[in-house]
Amino acid sequence: MRSDINLIVSHVFGGNVRSDNTGDVSALRLLAGYLFNTQRGANVSFRAPYEFKSGRQLLIDSSTWKSLEIDAPLNDGGTCLLDVIDKTKTAVGARKLRSYLRVLPGDKNVILSRQTHIGHLLGNHSLMAEISSVLSRTPDVNRAVSRLLSGRGTPRDMRNVFEFLSILDSVKNVGKKLDTDLAEKFANIDTHDTLTEEFSRALNDDLPSFFRDGNVIKRGFDISLDNMRDLSNGAIETIAELQAEYIKQTGVNNLKIKYNNVLGYFIEVASTKADALMAPESGFIHRQTMAGNMRFTTPKLIDLDNDIRSASEKASAIENEIIEKFIEKIRAISTDLMNTADLIADMDVWLSLAECADIYSWVRPTITETNEFNIVGGRHPVIEFVLKHNGGNFVKNDCDLKEKPIALLTGPNMAGKSTYLRQNAILVVLAHLGSFVPANTATIGICDQLFSRVGASDNLAAGQSTFMVEMVETANILNRATKKSFIIFDEIGRGTSTFDGMAIAQAVLEYLNTLTPRTLFATHYHELTRLVESENLNNVSCLTIDVREHNNDIVFLHKIISGVANRSYGIAVAKMAGMPEKIVERAEQVLSNLESGAPDTQPVSKAPEKPSVKPVVEEPKTKSQLSLFG
Ligand code: ADP
Repeated sequence: MRSDINLIVSHVFGGNVRSDNTGDVSALRLLAGYLFNTQRGANVSFRAPYEFKSGRQLLIDSSTWKSLEIDAPLNDGGTCLLDVIDKTKTAVGARKLRSYLRVLPGDKNVILSRQTHIGHLLGNHSLMAEISSVLSRTPDVNRAVSRLLSGRGTPRDMRNVFEFLSILDSVKNVGKKLDTDLAEKFANIDTHDTLTEEFSRALNDDLPSFFRDGNVIKRGFDISLDNMRDLSNGAIETIAELQAEYIKQTGVNNLKIKYNNVLGYFIEVASTKADALMAPESGFIHRQTMAGNMRFTTPKLIDLDNDIRSASEKASAIENEIIEKFIEKIRAISTDLMNTADLIADMDVWLSLAECADIYSWVRPTITETNEFNIVGGRHPVIEFVLKHNGGNFVKNDCDLKEKPIALLTGPNMAGKSTYLRQNAILVVLAHLGSFVPANTATIGICDQLFSRVGASDNLAAGQSTFMVEMVETANILNRATKKSFIIFDEIGRGTSTFDGMAIAQAVLEYLNTLTPRTLFATHYHELTRLVESENLNNVSCLTIDVREHNNDIVFLHKIISGVANRSYGIAVAKMAGMPEKIVERAEQVLSNLESGAPDTQPVSKAPEKPSVKPVVEEPKTKSQLSLFG
């Protein structure tokens, strides 16, 4: 088995047997072992592996990936980024878009060339419609080919390969109208005309579900197959003709040719009429005597019986041989087919992103090698999409990290802090994908890594509390981030006592102030904004969210402005959330005492019934705690 695995590995590496134990070879060895065990005997076809060059990518770790809801929503029934941007028409295109999201380039030229593909389409609606129509007729050839080549294929897969081949002319024509780089690649597509023509002569219009059901190959394609089928299909007529001939020969009018599983085809006559068949020179051979009947056969009937019995088997053998030959022809061009499908997938992806730019009014971001990040009128594509469907409007926001790479964001819950953080992180993702972005204008310097630390989540199964998860994620970010990274921190240090949490948050901010990655840092700790104001954090600016008070109610304007939040509105949010009135009143009373500098240690005259309000912090209450949000 080891040698088989080595064979697969060497096949994957294009015939160069590599015996080293580097990560890629070991991984392929494992994969080959798995394939060997699961696909035993099947002639599995591989495409050569290619190496990801980590230095030229925007790296995103798994918790960031999940929290940004790039290809899956966090909650069932939610909407993720992929749901909004995936307008692909083919299965290969959908898979390609997903894989492009997984491996985001960090190479400016790659990003710019993708922008060119999209920009070229965006200016040409009739070309977009033409491509769309070709793509919607393009079957999933990769799946079909891999199923056929691994022995799991069906006639439908074969039809898909045929339909794929048939569409290549149109693909080539439409591909020529793409931007120069792509057009050149499309011009080189081999349309495999001979095979396409052969398929059109061979494949039946109505195909069965499985090859074993027969009737895959059209009449007229192969004469021996037609003969066999005729023999099988025309059995009744042939027998009827022979029966008429024997009646004439013997003069026995009730002579019949019948069939059973034991004798096969035989001639039956009444015993009283059997004399004409008993004479040796008559050519009939006696097989059985029954009560009242006698059964005979003839060398001709034996031959015919054999022919008829095996005709359908023979027909299916011939048909299988023809199918096998087609499969071999497909195998011979499989790499080429996959490469063409890859080009089509690309076309589908660029069209999908051009449609997004068109429908959602996205703009082409300016990509730089600097650490710039300047967004004017930015939007969160997913929230905007969901709001639009519900008749709402998304409030655009700017973000400029050029002068001060770190922005400290304070503001009440529900004001839109997380949305702002995430929308900018998603703009980073889209820009690196090569896509246009939801903004009025955008200048985005290439990043090496994108980190997001948002929300609280337990990973109890892995033995980690909420706070531990928060610290593990924060540590991971701080250990790996560089000046070229983009980070969003949505609250740090909230899962522990106030002083602990604030101390950690401040130390993190101070560290970031020295490292200067582009960072959006949302916090409930007001003290941090004072550090900025006192200019200890010279690379940090302060942002907040505009909130209006109206008749004792608060209105969230979702507008990011520079400055610091002056109030928490925590109680107002609690009220909006349906907190019992008594508790809201009592909280307002406690807050007002705390704000006046007189900590409320007196029990209320009439204690609230349920639930009892527990102190949240362990330290004695100080002025600093007044600024805690949420
Ligand atoms: P926070 O993080 O401050 O608690 P979120 O970012 O979770 O607030 O926003 C709360 C809700 O407010 C969002 O689910 C969204 O519906 C709405 N929202 C946030 N930002 C905007 C915006 N810019 N425009 C419109 N609605 C917004």
